[in-house]
Amino acid sequence: MDPKERTIEPWSALLDAGREDGRLVREAREGPGRAKLVEPPPELHPEVLEALERLGMQRLYSHQAQAVYRAWEGPTIVTTGTASGKSMCFNLPTLDVLCRDGRARALYLYPTKALAQDQARALATFGLTKRVRPAIYDGDTPHEARAQIRKSANVVLTNPDMLHVGILPNHAAWAELFANLAIVVIDEAHAYRGVFGSHVANVLRRLRRIAAAYGTTPRFLLTSATIANPVELAERLTGLDEVSLIDEDGSPAPGRKIAMWNPPLTDEALGTRRSALAEAAELLARLVREGTRAICFMKSRKGVERLSQLVKEDLEATHPELAELVAPYRAGYTPQQRRALEGQLTRGELRAVITTDALELGIDIGELDASVVVTFPGTVASLRQMWGRAGRRGRGLAVYVAGEDALDQFFCRHPENFLDRPVEAAILDHESPLIFRQHLLCTAHEGPLSLDDAEFLGPRWEAHAELLVSAGELRRRPGHVARRGEDGEIGDSVLRGLGRESYVPRRSGGYPAAEVSLRSASPDSFEIVDVVSGELLGSTEAARAHSTVHQGAIYLHQGRSYEVRELDLDRRRALVAQFDGDWYTQPKRETETSIERLLDRREALGVTLSFGEVSVADTVLAYQRKRSSDHALLDLVALDLPQTSFPTQALWFELPIGPTVSRAGGGSAALHSREEHEPANGGLGGPAETIPLESLLGALHATEHAQIAVLPLIAMCDRWDIGGLSTNFHPQTHGPTIFLYDGHPGGVGIARTAFHRFGELCEDARRLIAECPCSGAGGCPSCVQSPKCGNLNEPLSKAGAHLLLERMLTAPPEPEPEPALAGLTR
Ligand SMILES: [Zn+2]
Ligand SMILES: [Zn+2]
Repeated sequence: MDPKERTIEPWSALLDAGREDGRLVREAREGPGRAKLVEPPPELHPEVLEALERLGMQRLYSHQAQAVYRAWEGPTIVTTGTASGKSMCFNLPTLDVLCRDGRARALYLYPTKALAQDQARALATFGLTKRVRPAIYDGDTPHEARAQIRKSANVVLTNPDMLHVGILPNHAAWAELFANLAIVVIDEAHAYRGVFGSHVANVLRRLRRIAAAYGTTPRFLLTSATIANPVELAERLTGLDEVSLIDEDGSPAPGRKIAMWNPPLTDEALGTRRSALAEAAELLARLVREGTRAICFMKSRKGVERLSQLVKEDLEATHPELAELVAPYRAGYTPQQRRALEGQLTRGELRAVITTDALELGIDIGELDASVVVTFPGTVASLRQMWGRAGRRGRGLAVYVAGEDALDQFFCRHPENFLDRPVEAAILDHESPLIFRQHLLCTAHEGPLSLDDAEFLGPRWEAHAELLVSAGELRRRPGHVARRGEDGEIGDSVLRGLGRESYVPRRSGGYPAAEVSLRSASPDSFEIVDVVSGELLGSTEAARAHSTVHQGAIYLHQGRSYEVRELDLDRRRALVAQFDGDWYTQPKRETETSIERLLDRREALGVTLSFGEVSVADTVLAYQRKRSSDHALLDLVALDLPQTSFPTQALWFELPIGPTVSRAGGGSAALHSREEHEPANGGLGGPAETIPLESLLGALHATEHAQIAVLPLIAMCDRWDIGGLSTNFHPQTHGPTIFLYDGHPGGVGIARTAFHRFGELCEDARRLIAECPCSGAGGCPSCVQSPKCGNLNEPLSKAGAHLLLERMLTAPPEPEPEPALAGLTR
């Protein structure tokens, strides 16, 4: 340890103590890096250069200047670090265009309203008020202001939902924008993944199509957090080829200490640890006492409130005056309130602010000494963004306090694997059939579909259109000769598809976009209504309603907990009330999968690995109530719900373990079977080994859980987005089989990614199990137990799963893989 550091850093004593008692499991140092400064591109419009001068930015970071040149050439994505001045990368090219062309328009898309507000403010600081007229257009924009914005704003800041439901269907009212659309900015592009991303990819294709109809080809400029596949994400989102990447950061990285903090084990055999909340409270109180200005991130609002309380209590005991300087940050603050908060933090009037990830997405709250992230936020990209807040005056402390969840503990043991190189890919599938068809209908509503649309919608759109014809949603319209001079505007005549055969909506008066939620894979959804206020809180996919909002379920919505009072199947809604109790629920369900279509297959790791379309049938039978603090079982409540089913994508692998075992029972009934077993033959089981049925089931089940737990580290998603099923006998494969499937109807590419990166998935799962210190046969929540298991974590065999994965990973290598897969398999 550098003796100088002890005297300089206010957190040195804290880290020393952590090192001593083993809670500080890993530390690393980042930066400081020197800024690479360059002259602003002299080709920029003189007024833009003057504005930079006024702002005191005589020099730019190298990536900002580079972005300007690239933006002039073609679509570009920038992935430099948090607080590296990414907005400048798209603001400069935009301002340049607006200064040169008085008619030009730009469209900025933000995933949240708060971010759009911040950006509008940032644009105003350039002081180019004559040339640049930004306006926010979202659900909160007053109706009387809307016409004026359509007419005069030349930078429209909005969100994908508004573009989808408000702007594109009414393109005629926005003709001025579309006919002059020069630039489309997509900030925080990594937010567009999974179901939401698959929708947004379709919305952006519709945007390009409408722009083309009005004669424009806007330039797309994107930014993203650091992910494994930025170019692929940009191309999948926009449908454009050859997006160029800027990832060399020219901003000065602050020197930052990274500390991985693991709460101590309280029961080694059970694998239980002291709670991350208690641990974080102690850390934060200590940091505040040392004079540090800190921000702390929690997953839920309840957690935020609870942690604020604990920190205040801790401080009150020793330094009551400091307790006042800790505040929770609540959702719904206006930009002014956020500025005020930022000012208080910067001036030291507040020492610590505790928040949910509402603050995570790029909001400019200034730089602080320390950032404490409590439990793994789900992706390394998010963790990095949160940590990016730490680094005031060139130095900072970034802490991660691990929770007991499997992903937390795995990450805690292998931070270097994830921090040194981005491993998570943002996955989306714009052709996910249900999502694609919903947008195809919206597209047809915006203008008849014709052959030219393959450019925007891809080569397979017509097959989907035919399905919509059969479903009575679209009709084919024969071509006829257009009469010249009939149409006022170019866009309009093109969009009416005159003169060509086309597809048009069957019902002319419909408004399909209003029926499509960008957050839900299927239009078939249940509304979630607050029973007290009558407020509509949101919706959930029908396919998931029975398991997430059954009567009695505790449901987390935007960081707040609710208890479901009633699930009304006829009216398709769940009535919920705010919940403050100390328990959570876990549904018990029976799941069956049937293979509908095989799309790909290969031999890998000694198993037959397949990818295809499946149908998942689910019956929710009951639910458990468990105490939050110690997961103790409170009771099991029976439910009477009908079976539901949905189509999706899955990978499955068949294990060549004793066919004799598979005769022991069929399907899920075998889960409860205690029949005596026969020796298994050949394959992974080994010729002379005996695998009792219960152990086989436990091994398969634990393997499935472990794989689901680590999959989010490959494909950015939540474990709740993935489903799984393991059985010793599947009627279609006739043997032991494990399925991993996309939890959203239609699938959004998660299972496909897992199929392609199966080797990594198995290796990560093996390490997760092998390195967990718990000693119980059924594992613990940090390895093979799952908080969402439909079988309530029965049966599970940690040792069996370990053996199975070991065998797979040491299986003799396959014959040469097919060239297309060569790079993707081990
Ligand atoms: Zn464990
Ligand atoms: Zn399970």
